[in-house]
Amino acid sequence: MGQLNFDELKQIIEINSWTRNKEGVDKNGEIFASWMEAIGYTLSRYSREGIGDHLHFIAPSKKGKRLLLLGHLDTVFPPNTFETFGEDEAWIYGPGVCDMKGGNYVALQALRNIHNKFGAVRNIDFLLVSDEETGSDDSRHLSAKLAGEYDYCMVFEAAGANDEVVIGRKGVGTFFVDIEGIAAHAGNHYREGADANLEAADKLARLVALTDLGKGTTVNVGKIEGGIGANTISPHARLTFELRYTAAEERDRVLAEINHIVMESTVTGTTATLSGGIQRDVMQPSPGQQRFIEQINTLCHIELPTEKRGGVSDANIISSQGVPTIDGWGPFGDGDHTVRERASKKSFSERIALVTEIFDHFMQGEFQ
Ligand SMILES: [Zn+2]
Repeated sequence: MGQLNFDELKQIIEINSWTRNKEGVDKNGEIFASWMEAIGYTLSRYSREGIGDHLHFIAPSKKGKRLLLLGHLDTVFPPNTFETFGEDEAWIYGPGVCDMKGGNYVALQALRNIHNKFGAVRNIDFLLVSDEETGSDDSRHLSAKLAGEYDYCMVFEAAGANDEVVIGRKGVGTFFVDIEGIAAHAGNHYREGADANLEAADKLARLVALTDLGKGTTVNVGKIEGGIGANTISPHARLTFELRYTAAEERDRVLAEINHIVMESTVTGTTATLSGGIQRDVMQPSPGQQRFIEQINTLCHIELPTEKRGGVSDANIISSQGVPTIDGWGPFGDGDHTVRERASKKSFSERIALVTEIFDHFMQGEFQ
């Protein structure tokens, strides 16, 4: 088993990789690429402007099943907010130690172990995208397209507190409703106005009522804007809201209702338009995923603990393409998206050992 070298991880952690810092994200990618190329990978680069390049590392192939590893190169921290690496006995600290430069590093170390043992890695490719933290608006099309080439996918976001892998994640969409009314002086011409704010209030109440906590569906109108001042009937209002759901049927139900609510005005003279949409579709447990887990359990003689999460990741994208996908293969950590982000050293070693074992069985053609 390869010795854990946190110096290498430190090297990439200290490069600011905020999503909009293209130079930093690309630098992180460049170093990672040198490590991957050293173990026989070919880089297929998807060049981008304004965000970092997406990197698809391709192993020599042979007949048989194909496994996709997935990670992201970006972090949520703008320059000069959180850029230092630290460690003590039990933890390492720094931007991305668990979300998810640390997770990428787990995959790399396991691939190195496989390269050492077999002399080459085959049929295990690695996709690193650059814009996950801003919703994968660009990379989601690439991820969805590449997904079709694979039989399985492992995503290296952080593990659960008890080493759980992630088998379900809510779907999420962000939407905007723009309501146009007619401005009028609230004193002299009250009847000539069409009150966009009043229509917004009605729509807000109806949208929130689509929430069904029993089914894990929530609609949250997190922002309202509208109007000019107290003496003017409001000519414009805007609602910003988010939908989260755990099942495709719920997505379909709520989307149909949203359209209905937007189209139907109760305040005469107002009209409304809807924009936005689903950002990441739901990751639902599936029979294919269940079989993937059972094979891992049998081959590695373990009982993989599993959990579902409310938050999204790129696992949602691959999974909704019908590829059996398991997320949470990174190290356990906490404080992600804050300056307290840290990852457990013990969890690092354990994850690398387990992932190496899975890759080993995969290389021997034992996954069906
Ligand atoms: Zn992440």
